Amino acid sequence: MPDLYLRLALPTPLRRLFDYRAPRGVPAEHWQPGVRVRVPFGSRKVVGILVETTATTDIPAGKVRDALELLDERPLFEPPLLELIRWTASYYQHSLGDTFSWAMPALLRQGEPATAQKKLFYQAAADADIADERIKNAPRQRQALAAVLQHRQGMAHAQLHNLGIQKTSIDALVEKGLLFQELRSQKPARPGGPLLAQPSLVLNAEQQLAVDAVGKALHRHQVFLLAGVTGSGKTEVYLHLIEQVLKQGRQVLVLIPEINLGPQTINRFRQRFNVRVALLHSEVNDRERLNAWLAARDGMAEIVIGTRSALFTPFRDLGLIVIDEEHDSSYKQQDGLRYHARDLALVRARRLGIAVVMGSATPSLESLHNAQSGRYALLRLNRRAGAAQAPTFMRLDVRSLPLDSGISLPLQKAIEQTLAAGQQVLVFLNRRGFAPVLMCQDCGWMGDCHACDARLTLHQRYNELRCHHCGHIEQRPHACPKCQSLQLHPVGAGTERAEERLQILFPKIPVVRIDRDSTARKGSLDAMLNLVQRGEPCILLGTQMLAKGHHFPAVTLVAILNADGGLFSADFRASERMAQLVIQVAGRAGRAEQPGRVIIQSHVADHPLLIQLTEEGYFAFARQALDERRVAQLPPYTHMALLRAEALNPQHADDFLRDAVSLAQQLQQHYEDSEVELLGPVAAPMERRSGRYRAQLLFISAQRQPLHRLLHGLCFNLEQLTSARQARWSLDVDPIDL
Ligand code: ADP
Ligand code: ZN
Ligand code: ZN
Repeated sequence: MPDLYLRLALPTPLRRLFDYRAPRGVPAEHWQPGVRVRVPFGSRKVVGILVETTATTDIPAGKVRDALELLDERPLFEPPLLELIRWTASYYQHSLGDTFSWAMPALLRQGEPATAQKKLFYQAAADADIADERIKNAPRQRQALAAVLQHRQGMAHAQLHNLGIQKTSIDALVEKGLLFQELRSQKPARPGGPLLAQPSLVLNAEQQLAVDAVGKALHRHQVFLLAGVTGSGKTEVYLHLIEQVLKQGRQVLVLIPEINLGPQTINRFRQRFNVRVALLHSEVNDRERLNAWLAARDGMAEIVIGTRSALFTPFRDLGLIVIDEEHDSSYKQQDGLRYHARDLALVRARRLGIAVVMGSATPSLESLHNAQSGRYALLRLNRRAGAAQAPTFMRLDVRSLPLDSGISLPLQKAIEQTLAAGQQVLVFLNRRGFAPVLMCQDCGWMGDCHACDARLTLHQRYNELRCHHCGHIEQRPHACPKCQSLQLHPVGAGTERAEERLQILFPKIPVVRIDRDSTARKGSLDAMLNLVQRGEPCILLGTQMLAKGHHFPAVTLVAILNADGGLFSADFRASERMAQLVIQVAGRAGRAEQPGRVIIQSHVADHPLLIQLTEEGYFAFARQALDERRVAQLPPYTHMALLRAEALNPQHADDFLRDAVSLAQQLQQHYEDSEVELLGPVAAPMERRSGRYRAQLLFISAQRQPLHRLLHGLCFNLEQLTSARQARWSLDVDPIDL
């Protein structure tokens, strides 16, 4: 028999495939694209994905290595998903093997079988009797048998274990023929009963229009942008559409942002339907993740809810993709494979010929642009559902007002009034820690990170200075390291400081601080949220963790301590993000019967963007912002890619990027194309981070096609550069952080 070669995608950053000799004894038809194969790689063993088989290889005969083992009976990735992953690798100019790694659960990457795990079950024998003579004097065995007898379907070993029943008792019963053991795959059965576990709400006119519009398009590809103000009932629209798709026997993928604080949203999906819901988010462990993935693939889960990587889940029959909070930046992965889950979900839906509904109160400018140009259908929900009204805004000019721990006197009064009326207050401050800087009053010294171009944040509670960029921690100095003065003072305020101040101002009122520090312990967030849900007067204080998806019926005042950063950043997306954050945080106010109000403290209270946002709303702001982007020729009117390099020696990063520039220029001459503009190399906004110097080169093009042709040629060549060995580099296509 002639040799057969396997062309594999391996988990390495190298943008190429690797040939191995197929082991003998496996019939040729078993080598289907998409199966996993274990192979030796250097001195390790890795799991690769078969891309194709060939009869010849360019590798010299003596050098071809033998593949070790075929891991799957059938392809792990069916052709449509395989194609999507290949498309992803090519669009983001990423190694195909590494793209596969991001697209599959960790256990599959490690070579675990792609079949639902089997569990040990115990079933009572037909004639098993608790009064059996043989166990008369064995109370533990009687207890075990009694437990199993109560479960006609048998009991899992783990269940018995949880009852405190010992393995020895069970074994003894098996020995006596009173119990049988059996390995069962634990595929959950679809719960019986009607599809709806809870009645759905009667839709208002706007919601009904939206459901009708999407409902008509369920069997073809169309993208719907559901732009509904916060609390307008977008989730209810999703639920009605999901019901329609489930009735057709098809599956639904619901993508949610990363810190959606899951339970609240997820429970609404779970409670509505009598179907199996699989979860794929950061708190799901590896085994559960694999089970969810397999359940979706085998049609054993009707709904999959997950964060960005859930987009790569295989489905037996996917009928609809819902993208909640489509503007959220957590859909974009910021390391390794820098993909955008929303954009890829749209590609997937187009290939499958199914509809996508993406919702947001503050749609991204990209999506609004696509709606304006007619590529997406725009559905608006302008009113809050139920009895709630829209909140009112007030810009509080704090230029001439003293701030104590970030809080002005008029704001303090407003908080006092709200609490006195028996209502709750939400205070938003997007900066954790006690103070962003520790400064010496005598010589002006400030605590800097030794590894980053950044100040250290004071964390008073731990008496520490911490870098929020590299994680460095040091003791708070007692005296100024430069002049030995004892006059070291915190400057500015973070959530810890505001918490301290609010607690002094309102000693009888609970102040609940919610940020990454206070919620580090698992379950602590839920406990805090429960306190707020009770509805008694309290102050909720926190970072953007608070902005997302929460429903706090008793909050009637939202205070934004500082939104000015977004108005003066070098990043052209900063104002969009500021606007989204302000509107999302504001959306937490007055979600029940009581009307809500929002107070924004600002040093630039008369800034045109802020006025427009608070007086005319997000859409007026977005229209203006889009106009500015068009004039400046920025995305979404142009397309960008960012080549980043970092090295311990700044020269190395720079050398690499200069080589990249000349390579790009050569390629452009070769293509006779000057469409793509190159900007840089320049230092990154924070040049030094974690001890490494960072520089970047920006590519801008009015058209995608020439940009991608150039990037493709470039990446292939960059790998070969000698300067590439001295710098870490990465390419970010459609970057959202510049
Ligand atoms: P969004 O997702 O747009 O923020 P939700 O779907 O969470 O809005 O709805 C906000 C609140 O309004 C929820 O408490 C929800 O139960 C309620 N709601 C939604 N639709 C209706 C409706 N048609 N009738 C009555 N209440 C509704
Ligand atoms: Zn000093
Ligand atoms: Zn640092």
